[in-house]
Amino acid sequence: MKVSVIGTGYVGLVSGTCFAEAGNDVICVDNDQDKLAKLNAGKVPIYEPGLETLFERNAKDGRLRFSDDLAAAVAHAEVIFLALPTPPTEDGSADLKYVLGVANQIGTIISDYKVLVNKSTVPVGTADKVRAAVSAQTDVEFDVVSNPEFLREGFAVQDFMKPERIVIGARSDRAIEVMRRLYKPFVMSGNPILFMDERSAEVTKYAGNSFLATKISFMNEIANLCELVGADVDNVRRGIGTDTRIGKRFLFPGVGYGGSCFPKDVSALFKTSQEYNYDFKILDSVMEVNDLQKGILANKIVKEMGEDLTGKQFAVWGLAFKPNTDDIREAPALVIIEELLKRGAKVKAFDPEAMESVRAYTNLDIEYGDNMYSTLEGADALIIVTEWNEFRAPDFEKIKNSLSRPLVFDGRNIYEMGVLEQYGFTYHSIGRRSVNATETVATE
Ligand code: NAD
Repeated sequence: MKVSVIGTGYVGLVSGTCFAEAGNDVICVDNDQDKLAKLNAGKVPIYEPGLETLFERNAKDGRLRFSDDLAAAVAHAEVIFLALPTPPTEDGSADLKYVLGVANQIGTIISDYKVLVNKSTVPVGTADKVRAAVSAQTDVEFDVVSNPEFLREGFAVQDFMKPERIVIGARSDRAIEVMRRLYKPFVMSGNPILFMDERSAEVTKYAGNSFLATKISFMNEIANLCELVGADVDNVRRGIGTDTRIGKRFLFPGVGYGGSCFPKDVSALFKTSQEYNYDFKILDSVMEVNDLQKGILANKIVKEMGEDLTGKQFAVWGLAFKPNTDDIREAPALVIIEELLKRGAKVKAFDPEAMESVRAYTNLDIEYGDNMYSTLEGADALIIVTEWNEFRAPDFEKIKNSLSRPLVFDGRNIYEMGVLEQYGFTYHSIGRRSVNATETVATE
C-alpha cells in the first residue's frame, strides 16, 4: 500500500519504518531540515534499539523515503498518518496547532479519496476537528480515523511490529477496510484489531497512560509509607504483584514518572474532564504525587548533607527519563539536577545515550563524564536516576574508592541493600529497609 506519515519523530519514524518493513511504499514528511538531512544521509536521528537495521534495509530498497514536500506525500498515499507533536499548553491541555495546521494544509491539497489517520495522542473530539479542518477547504471525499499509538520508547520497534492490540476508531466501512488491510501483517499471531468509534479510541489512549501513571504514583506513595512504618516496598511489591488481578508491571517505586507521554497525557485528560465539568479527583492526586516524588531524592540528600550544598559535588548516573532512550522530556533527572545546582552543588553526569539531548535542549551548567566511572572522582555522593542495565552490576570497590565518601542515593532501587551495606556504603533508596534494621526482613 502507499502510505505517508507526517511528522518523523519517535512515533512517525518508527511507524513509517515498520510499515515499509511490511512491504508498503512509505514517504515520511518532516519540516525539521536538520532531521531530514540526517535521514536522507542514512542516519537515524533518535536512539531506538532495532530501528537502524530496519531503517537501512527499507531506505536502501526504496520503500522508505523522507521529504518536506507535504503535497507530494499526500498525492502519493492512500493512507496518511499524522504523527505530529501534541505538547502541553500552559494550562495543561494538549496543543492541537500542529495537527490542525497540517489537517488544514491537507484540505487544500487533496484531490482524491484519502484516509487521514490521527496517530498523535489527541483529546476526545479531535477526529471531528480534523474532519472539520479538512472539510473547510475541500469537497473531495476523505475519512478520518483515530489510531492511537501504544509503542514504548526503547521497545518501539518490537511494540509496533508485534502490538498487543491495535485500536482503530472509525465510522466508515471504506476506512475500516483500508486499516484492516494495512495492519494485517502486524497481527498474524492473532492479537486483535479493536474497532470502535473515534471518541472511544481517543479516550482509550489517555485512559491507558493515566491508569499506568496512577499505578506508579500509587506505588510511590506505598513506598513512602513503607519508609515511615519500617516495611520494605520490595517485599510489598512482590506480595501484591503476584496477584494476577494486579500484575507485576508498573509497581516499581522511584523518582516519579517522566517522558513525553505520561505527564502530558495525564494532565490533558484532567483538562478534558474539567472542560466537561467533571472533577477527576484521582488524576489530580496522581499529578500531585508525581511532582512531590520528583523531589524525593533531593529531600534525602538535604537530610543527609544539609540545606546548603555549596562546594559539594555529585555524580549523576542517568539523564534519560527511562533506560534505552535518549529522550529527556520531563525527565526526573533534570528536576533533581536543577535542585542540586540551586543549592550550590556541582554535578558531573553520565548517560549512555541522553547526554547530547541535555546539551542541546537544556542550559544546565553541568559536566559530563566519558563513562560512568569518570563522573565519580572526588564526588561526595553518587545519585542514580535512570536504571540503565550498565549501572546494575558495577564495580562497587571502584565506586567506593573514587567517591570522597561512600554515599549512594538510588532513585530506582537497582542495588540490593545488603550488598551495598556490606561494601560499607551509606545507601539511600526508595521505600526500602536497611538489612541492619532491628526486626528480621523477609527474603524471597
Ligand atoms: P516528536 O516530537 O518526536 O516528533 C514529531 C515530529 O513532527 C518532529 O520530527 C517534528 O519536526 C515534526 N513536525 C512538527 N510540525 C510538523 C509539520 N507541520 N510538518 C511536518 N512535520 C512536523 O513526537 P513523538 O514522540 O513522535 O510524538 C508524536 C505524537 O505521538 C504525540 O502526540 C505523542 O503524544 C504521541 N505518542 C508518542 C509516543 C512516544 O513514546 N514518543 C508514544 C505514543 C504516542
